Amino acid sequence: MSNSPSNDARVDGASSPDSVARPSEPTASSESGSPSAAGRLAALRGQIDQVDSELVRLLARRDACVREVGGLKQTSADLPRIDQAREQRLLADWRRRARAQGLSTTLAERVLREVLDYSHRAQESLQTPGRARPGIHVVYQGEAFAYGDLAATRLMATRHPGEVRRTGMRTFAETFDAVRSGDADYALLPIENSVVGGIEEVNALLADSELAIVDEEVCEVRHVLAAARGTRVDQVRRVRSHPMALAQCHLFLRTLDGAETEPYYDTAGAAGSIAEARDKTRDLPDGLAVICSAEAAEVHDLEILARDVADDPSNMTRFVLVGREPEQPPPGVPTKTSLAVLLDHRQGALTRFLGDLSAASLNLTRIESRPQPRTPWQYLFMVDFEGGSSPEAVAKALENAQRHCNFLRVLGTYPMRAGRARHLEGAEVAATAVAADDAPPAPAEPVAATPAEPEAEAVEREPRVVVEVGSARIGSDRFALISGPCAVESRAQMLAAAEMVRARGATILRGGAFKPRTSPHSFQGLGVEGLKLLAEAGRSVGLPVITEVLRIEDIDDIKEHADMLQIGARNMQNFALLRAVGRTRMPVLLKRGLSATVKELLSAADYILAEGNRQVVLCERGIRTFETSTRSTLDVAAVAVLKELSPLPVIIDPSHAAGRRELVVPLALAAAAAGADGLIVEAHPNPVEALCDKDQALTATDLDRLVRELMPILKGQGRAL
Ligand code: PEP
Ligand code: MN
Repeated sequence: MSNSPSNDARVDGASSPDSVARPSEPTASSESGSPSAAGRLAALRGQIDQVDSELVRLLARRDACVREVGGLKQTSADLPRIDQAREQRLLADWRRRARAQGLSTTLAERVLREVLDYSHRAQESLQTPGRARPGIHVVYQGEAFAYGDLAATRLMATRHPGEVRRTGMRTFAETFDAVRSGDADYALLPIENSVVGGIEEVNALLADSELAIVDEEVCEVRHVLAAARGTRVDQVRRVRSHPMALAQCHLFLRTLDGAETEPYYDTAGAAGSIAEARDKTRDLPDGLAVICSAEAAEVHDLEILARDVADDPSNMTRFVLVGREPEQPPPGVPTKTSLAVLLDHRQGALTRFLGDLSAASLNLTRIESRPQPRTPWQYLFMVDFEGGSSPEAVAKALENAQRHCNFLRVLGTYPMRAGRARHLEGAEVAATAVAADDAPPAPAEPVAATPAEPEAEAVEREPRVVVEVGSARIGSDRFALISGPCAVESRAQMLAAAEMVRARGATILRGGAFKPRTSPHSFQGLGVEGLKLLAEAGRSVGLPVITEVLRIEDIDDIKEHADMLQIGARNMQNFALLRAVGRTRMPVLLKRGLSATVKELLSAADYILAEGNRQVVLCERGIRTFETSTRSTLDVAAVAVLKELSPLPVIIDPSHAAGRRELVVPLALAAAAAGADGLIVEAHPNPVEALCDKDQALTATDLDRLVRELMPILKGQGRAL
């Protein structure tokens, strides 16, 4: 009974705030009339201690009520999850009471917001039973008492009621690896700072990783200048700290006459390094100071020479918690969503993208751009937004917005911590309106996702996708010609092939470095060495390059050297590989399987699209039929059918369909006539010597003929090479 929330009012009354708001006359002011200042101070401090212990007792009592409320909400689905109208009333009450007591309303409000924030989190973890699992392991970059550690402590205190293990690691990349390998459940990473902005390295890792953001935390960063005991500020000659911390204290550091800065991998680690030198040599490191948290300075028994040394007093860092799987925030909890977005290059794409978010009342809270490796002047946008009336509304908005993107990956949807105070104010009107109507709370059950129409098949409304590969475009009114040898065989062969195809109008150079061969005794390709030769040949003639990927493990190497990934016919339904290339932001050529239907090809494409990568080109390369006069049977009809069903560009590989040089040109012409967006054709400077598919490789003369005969067909269609 005493824990029931209806006792709220009595809590106030019982503790008799009046009696603690103003100190009674200290008993030390004795009848003698000459109270000693020391005595008076001791008495006042005694009173403060008493009040503090009362505050803690009351907070614990409040917390018990809150948890009981959480339990009630958990068992009765019809109770509102977060009653914003009630929270508004509480805030108003606190302000009014503070004013009546002559207390700062700002103080009262700050305290209440902190208490409410804690309560929300406590209830949230009750609503998410999985979180009580004991032995959760979270990693962060730095050492104990680094800001990452302090933030982890704060977030985990309410998020996981069980015991949580925290481990500091040397680099951000190591924290990602720890989560990926299962050594840790989560990594907590600083993503942006209110003074220095986005944290580049973490954003780069997030954009490339398959991990999901599941929560966030915002921490005040209050730096101190600390040194070995006995050091004076005017003796400081060197200041060691994390480069980010040094940057945040730039103005302060200038006041330390001539002191040099010394970048170190971690703030707490810097504090530890002084302590270690001191303990080992029993010698004070000469004029060396560090910038770190007060906690780190204290734990290493350093002297704090100055506090709050950051240039901006409101120095805050936002951290994100990443795990292996996305987690659904408890219903009713205000959320934030993070995206990595590569816009397409049509004019106004950014405006239309933002327009789609705004039309769904999603509130953009961050947009940052990062340069893209290998593609100068293209930017990956890291986007955060708040809100959305329901998960379905957010999904719908993203579906619309993604039409303007080459790549859109949802990094996670998670409970909003940063900016929540602001959110509370914004919600005031809406919440009171609901209260006035006495409208029943919306059922907060997660709605089962309706099976979406396969993406690659959603047509009509969608603009046709144009895939950019370096300087080349596939799917525009320029017919794309991809050409080169089946396999990369040698430097001389590749350089000659590159010259040969470039001179005949090819816009992308092909060459297999990893070859899927029917027999294990056939030439398997030169591997990474081949990638390097291909890249060199492409550079020598200024063409982007495409190569086939056989295994997930090779993606990183290929990413470094190639501009487009090819998924071969034999891997069309290698779903793990499809997902993996879907997570890269590289254009993908997806070839139809030897016995795959058009629908199956589109479903395979969906695997790539579902990971956020929309830069997919479909390729018809011939299928297995009873016919033996050609290597495979080219299904020209598939071009028209695919174009009807999907907005993705479609190209034809006449080489593997024909299997014989003489047939390649006629099939290529048929493809162009049927409306294909381009061709991928095998060509070799000296086919007789080819190590792979020599019978179907075109010579320079054949390529000349191909181009000559293609021209009139394209012209008739209003297209060009
Ligand atoms: C290739 O293009 O090198 C290739 C092996 O083709 P496919 O996967 O269509 O057989
Ligand atoms: Mn081949």
